[in-house]
Amino acid sequence: MALLTSFYVHHPMSIRHLRLTEKHLLAGTASGAIHIVDRRCRHTENFSGCEHRTTIEAGETWHFDCYQNTLITANNDHVLRVWNVDTGLLQRTLARHSSAVNQVLIANAATVISSSQDSTVIVWDLPTAVPRWTLSHGAVVECLMIHGDLLFTGARDGTITIWDLEKGGFVRVLQGHTTPVWRMTVHLDGRLLATGASGGSMRIWDATSNHCIAECQGHTKMITDFTSVSETQLMTSAADGTIRVWDWTTGRHVSTLVAHERAVRGLSLTSQRVISGGMDGYVRVWDRADMTTSYEMREKVRAVWHLVSEADTIGLALLVEEGKHLIEMWDASQLK
Ligand SMILES: [Zn+2]
Repeated sequence: MALLTSFYVHHPMSIRHLRLTEKHLLAGTASGAIHIVDRRCRHTENFSGCEHRTTIEAGETWHFDCYQNTLITANNDHVLRVWNVDTGLLQRTLARHSSAVNQVLIANAATVISSSQDSTVIVWDLPTAVPRWTLSHGAVVECLMIHGDLLFTGARDGTITIWDLEKGGFVRVLQGHTTPVWRMTVHLDGRLLATGASGGSMRIWDATSNHCIAECQGHTKMITDFTSVSETQLMTSAADGTIRVWDWTTGRHVSTLVAHERAVRGLSLTSQRVISGGMDGYVRVWDRADMTTSYEMREKVRAVWHLVSEADTIGLALLVEEGKHLIEMWDASQLK
């Protein structure tokens, strides 16, 4: 397992968001400093001659997304800001929300979706910076996901709404959760949807009807990540320290692994391994075949804020000591 790049970020609060795209690894703080490193970088620690790192000061930021060389920040001042990652320059602003923007998702080069504390979701035409549709909810939307032409929104009132992105129309609402919905994932075929809400509640839905297939009992705290293991199995990590495996089609519980002493913050799958990061400071590598044997991928730190992956590359945001964070990128293709 090779460490590809690493650098320190000094900030009194947590790393709020970590994102790994085809070209970049991006780490954002609550104050809005977005630290960006080109994935070609092979410098570690704070090598002073590194030409691959930039920082964009975006203003107080809740969330961001990046697609190719476009970074969009969801700002507290009701505005989305569009940045060129290569030049670090602000290109345009998307201003139509009437409260803080809490989520942003870049669907493609022309379409951006945002949700706000004003309880609306806006589908933007990026080249013109004009809203294509404004979708009204009864509550603030906490998570956004797209699959094909469908947009899925999970809200603070426990509802999940499905929208048609082409026509901008309402498709259906899924009701059952009684707490805010924070996480979602869709099965490969697009028919099944898994959702996680506050308190560890989890459901699997038939996304083509309003039918809830299963209430998945087990997690006692919020689900932090979903990963499809196969066509038939879904893996979850949670703030209760466990990793669980479920049958995708029935919601039946398959197995539970006590993975970390504190919250599991992220999961990644390679062909033979599962990698998990915990607030206990460990990044652990598990054998997918039996999910029992494990080793620590790196030495313990204070906490693992985020673990993200893209293809065979892993991104980590780690708390080393109070106010000092380490951002790392690893090649996971050579795991022993
Ligand atoms: Zn570099």
